[in-house]
Amino acid sequence: MWDKMKCPLCFSVGHESVCEPGDGVMFVCCDRCGRFKITEDAVGYWFEKYSKNQSSRSVANASSWAHYYCNEFSTINDDDLKRCEDMRVPSFNDRADLLLKFISRKTAHIGQLVEFKEYEILVATWSYDTDETHALLNYLFGEGRIQLLKSEDAAIILANGWKHLEKLREKNPLSQQGFVAMWFNDELENAYTKAISPAIVEAGYRPHRVDFGEHNQKIDDEIIVQIRRSKFVVADFTGHRGGVYYEAGFGHGLGLEVFFTCRRDHVEDLHFDIRQYNCVLWENARFDEFRQKLARRIEAVLGKGNASSTI
Ligand SMILES: [Zn+2]
Repeated sequence: MWDKMKCPLCFSVGHESVCEPGDGVMFVCCDRCGRFKITEDAVGYWFEKYSKNQSSRSVANASSWAHYYCNEFSTINDDDLKRCEDMRVPSFNDRADLLLKFISRKTAHIGQLVEFKEYEILVATWSYDTDETHALLNYLFGEGRIQLLKSEDAAIILANGWKHLEKLREKNPLSQQGFVAMWFNDELENAYTKAISPAIVEAGYRPHRVDFGEHNQKIDDEIIVQIRRSKFVVADFTGHRGGVYYEAGFGHGLGLEVFFTCRRDHVEDLHFDIRQYNCVLWENARFDEFRQKLARRIEAVLGKGNASSTI
């Protein structure tokens, strides 16, 4: 059905793609999409729909999604591919930022002229043709962030570009993780499992909670590392634990979005500086409502995430 040397996601043959079938799952190593595993069912589904329409938006989405969010431990199935078909592409600005970051990763020293290949730019920027990549390159040029060769296959990052990269470094634009700061108490377990965690998944992100039980209630390095890796923080103030205030403040200081929540009967005691933020209030036995409100709030502020629940 498929060429052994062809990537089952992007159908590239111009560069080396190694596919090794086995156990109904193929291991793929593609210069464009990266390394991942994929079920043979998913390969069949994709081949039938897109092998004759390789420069479609869906193929570009699947390729970039695999490139950014999968690795050799991920197994892509047909549900993942169907999600890629409907996926909202990152905004123009985010894609321009991704392009600048891509060029910076190839830059060994300031002032260096960096060459790149067409497929590298396509996959880095979620683009499906060179009209899109030209527009992005020219935007960076117009903003004074890069100097661009006429041939558009090489660029130098300029001072404005480095300044912009500094700013970006703080906000984790690619992270799909939402850090959850809350009191670890049996009473609140349902709030996490029935509302906060599924709300984050529903908005397209991956929840991460550091269990205080295993960490002696200390603000330890693991918490700091996980907040730094996150795109946003959900902070639930029920119980008014010092740690939650600290983690919310730390996330805020990094420039991350912080979503405040609190059980209604604890809201009176909220510190004044939290009360002025728009806090999602919730009640026991109305977890569905809490989940929906929080998911909508996250999506409204950050847009739908791309995290897969299978990774
Ligand atoms: Zn590929």
